[in-house]
Amino acid sequence: MTSPAEKDSAKPSHFLRQIIERDLEQGTYSQRRWAGHPGDADTQQKGPLDPARIRTRFPPEPNGYLHVGHAKSICLNFGLARDYGGICHLRFDDTNPEKEEVEYVESIKDAVRWLGFDWDAKGTSHLYQASDYFDFMYRAAEYLIGAGLAYVDEQTPELMRANRGDFSRPGVDSPFRKRSVDENLQRFREMRDGQLPDGAAVLRAKIDMASPNINMRDPALYRIKHAEHHNTGDKWCIYPMYTFAHPIEDALENITHSFCTLEFEDQRPFYDWLLDRLAEGGLINKPHPRQYEFARLNLTYVVTSKRKLKQLVDEGHVGGWDDPRMPTIVGLRRRGYTPESLQLFAERIGVSKADSWIDYSVLEGALRDDLDPKAARAMAVLDPVKLVIENWGEVMGADDKLDPCSAPVHPHDASRGRRQFMFGRELWIERTDYEETPPKGFFRLFPGNKVRLKYGHVVECVGADRDANGTITQVRAKLVPDTKSGTPGADAVKVKGNITWVGVADGLKAEVRLYDRLFAVPQPGTGEKDFLEEINPDSLKVVTAYVEPSLREAKGDEKFQFERHGYFVADRVEHRPGERPVFNRVTGLKDSWGK
Ligand code: ATP
Ligand code: MG
Repeated sequence: MTSPAEKDSAKPSHFLRQIIERDLEQGTYSQRRWAGHPGDADTQQKGPLDPARIRTRFPPEPNGYLHVGHAKSICLNFGLARDYGGICHLRFDDTNPEKEEVEYVESIKDAVRWLGFDWDAKGTSHLYQASDYFDFMYRAAEYLIGAGLAYVDEQTPELMRANRGDFSRPGVDSPFRKRSVDENLQRFREMRDGQLPDGAAVLRAKIDMASPNINMRDPALYRIKHAEHHNTGDKWCIYPMYTFAHPIEDALENITHSFCTLEFEDQRPFYDWLLDRLAEGGLINKPHPRQYEFARLNLTYVVTSKRKLKQLVDEGHVGGWDDPRMPTIVGLRRRGYTPESLQLFAERIGVSKADSWIDYSVLEGALRDDLDPKAARAMAVLDPVKLVIENWGEVMGADDKLDPCSAPVHPHDASRGRRQFMFGRELWIERTDYEETPPKGFFRLFPGNKVRLKYGHVVECVGADRDANGTITQVRAKLVPDTKSGTPGADAVKVKGNITWVGVADGLKAEVRLYDRLFAVPQPGTGEKDFLEEINPDSLKVVTAYVEPSLREAKGDEKFQFERHGYFVADRVEHRPGERPVFNRVTGLKDSWGK
């Protein structure tokens, strides 16, 4: 039998995989027990051996829409759990009473599911909310007070800040640091009971005010906040700090590997300090979870700060959270990104310990690689001008005669059948496919030149008509008889140009939204300018196009490769099949940014 680890050895290894593999090999967590739900030491101890070989978690704060950076974290946490016979929890980190909104909870669940992951494992849901652990957190705080490891500090916030010291200066002990256990306990209960106003006191760990790591200088554990919480209502007026809450959440959920971004590296000593103390006190089991940090995703040409994304939406620079230019998961989805392409992207970028920027083209490359074998092909003319075949009636017997043509749905998969469309006297072609005086190397339409209309006939260009402004109103050509694609002798006439087209008789008028990168510079907001000044003014161009009739049935969210143009998706919000076709450009056929 191959272990899940061996089975996935095809995937690129990285330091987090190595850590997990080492722990599995050494059986670090093999004796843990699991009661079937989160709980303290006694609760878990009554359960059987934990069936999950590892437990990871994705812990979003429900205070905004998820973005591509979160997608990396989701793929990492859920992906590693899947690969190593583990379970990944979706945990809403809702310990901050004021910021969270229930609206975001649903969008986060949708995003995780859409990306192809599930917090249900063998019929058990592993969807948790940190606020369900408030009772335990309070108990842990009283335990620390009782053990002489925490105290209620009533210095003013200004003094507290000043007395913390800085990198070059050790901190100064608070005058409240020497309070007795009983006094601390009494005062903490008064905090809990609402007898003190916001900001009047905090509970702090008693560690070391001279520690070189400022996070170890008696960090705050609880603060007073007279605020209603969406889950616990007005039960609490004190709330745990993130640094206190997070390790406890991990421990109660039997998490083995707690992955977070690098900015939490300095918090790790406190993470371990806290869990070691709680384990000593018998509140949680050993071995406790461990925190490991990886570099967050920075993607060029977008921003991934929730605050900046919100500003883009609130100030109307984009159409909403799901604007196809947004790096939010809802935006990427509407743009035409697939879950598989984002998983592939996450795999390709891997994880590292060094901060870096990933080029946007890596994301687009993953999408192309995913869509190329899947997307049905279609012809579309995005900047249409009419091509009139003057001798059509003469050759075909009547001007209104239509000649059925076809092309494979997918060039590498004949089983997907063929698309049908009509050749006729009038066709739509790209305006740029005609040149009066062709530059060197131009093989398409110019007077006297022959080109093939792909899957159709060869024509010889005659010329073009212009209006008073000199704008071309129509291009004229003559059919070269006996050149229809797929008929015997069709190749006798050699041509260098092969152009796409859509029949005027059966082409479908469509709105096509040509999206480009949201920002004009690779690292928006990192230089002197405000990020808003670096928005790409050409990130959206809307055109009226003609598309082949096979797209009449296109459903919202269906992806296509428009030959020569790139990948397009029927807009999942506004596209109405047949009535009002709307297609979004996902990405071009190859990386052409800046070229
Ligand atoms: P906030 O500023 O609101 O805390 P956040 O981006 O940290 O924003 P969270 O909801 O706390 O948002 O993040 C959930 C998880 O996603 C965290 O574990 C975090 O480390 C991870 N995450 C967030 N941004 C990125 C990123 N750019 N790359 C990789 N992981 C990320
Ligand atoms: Mg966060």
